[in-house]
Amino acid sequence: MLPPDSPRILRLVRVALPGGPAYAYLHDDELEPLDAAPWEGGRPKGARFPREGTTLLAPCTPGKIVCIGVNYADHAKESASFTAVPDEPVLFMKPPSAVIGPGAAIAIPPGIGRVDHEAELGIVIGRRAFRAGNDEARGAIAGVVAVNDVSARVLQKKDGQFTRAKGFDTFCPLGPAIALGLDPSDLAVRARVNGALRQDGRSRDLVCGPVDLVVYISNVMTLEPGDVISTGTPAGVGPIEPGDVVEIEVEGVGRLANPVVERRR
Ligand code: ZN
Repeated sequence: MLPPDSPRILRLVRVALPGGPAYAYLHDDELEPLDAAPWEGGRPKGARFPREGTTLLAPCTPGKIVCIGVNYADHAKESASFTAVPDEPVLFMKPPSAVIGPGAAIAIPPGIGRVDHEAELGIVIGRRAFRAGNDEARGAIAGVVAVNDVSARVLQKKDGQFTRAKGFDTFCPLGPAIALGLDPSDLAVRARVNGALRQDGRSRDLVCGPVDLVVYISNVMTLEPGDVISTGTPAGVGPIEPGDVVEIEVEGVGRLANPVVERRR
């Protein structure tokens, strides 16, 4: 694990190979395969090969995705569920079954009403955090990933909680890479739909920042390596529809692009 202030940022991906999914470091247009995730002690093995022609998968396989309900003041104002920032972070979870990688389709079931994109900075855990204090929390953060917290807005309001609205299969695009060692405290977080900029925030405006979130959440539930914390969305959420391409960008991480389709059954 690299210290957060390290100038050397490694970009970690997962790639579909003939022998099964593998972690790899992304070096410009080449991939360097690893024998396991870095947080499992994985080391580079084998020769580098071209990225072109390979399929990138979600860059980790979280056991849980812990999300924050409203964590930017400007999003609280536009939110139907909250009128102000809550005095403590509001937690909810997306199931691991919702995770998809870059380029995979977000499949919207017919008849569920408005579905929104939510551009979010995701924190990937690299070391178990159990009732962490500040230093331990800082050391538990492996890196940063882009997350699209896809949300069925009508169902969210109707249900009064978020499990169904945010838990559909494909409603958690993750990627395209994990920027290991990247300081998450002040990064641009953007969403584009069909190329048009819809959200443009910065993580310095998070009400509860990444390290404080690890402290807070790990005092509720143990965070394990590979788990993801999606830190909340800035203002500008809006609807997506079949035929759209939605792109989430986190500065230093890259752009996570996913087409939107109608679920067939
Ligand atoms: Zn969200």
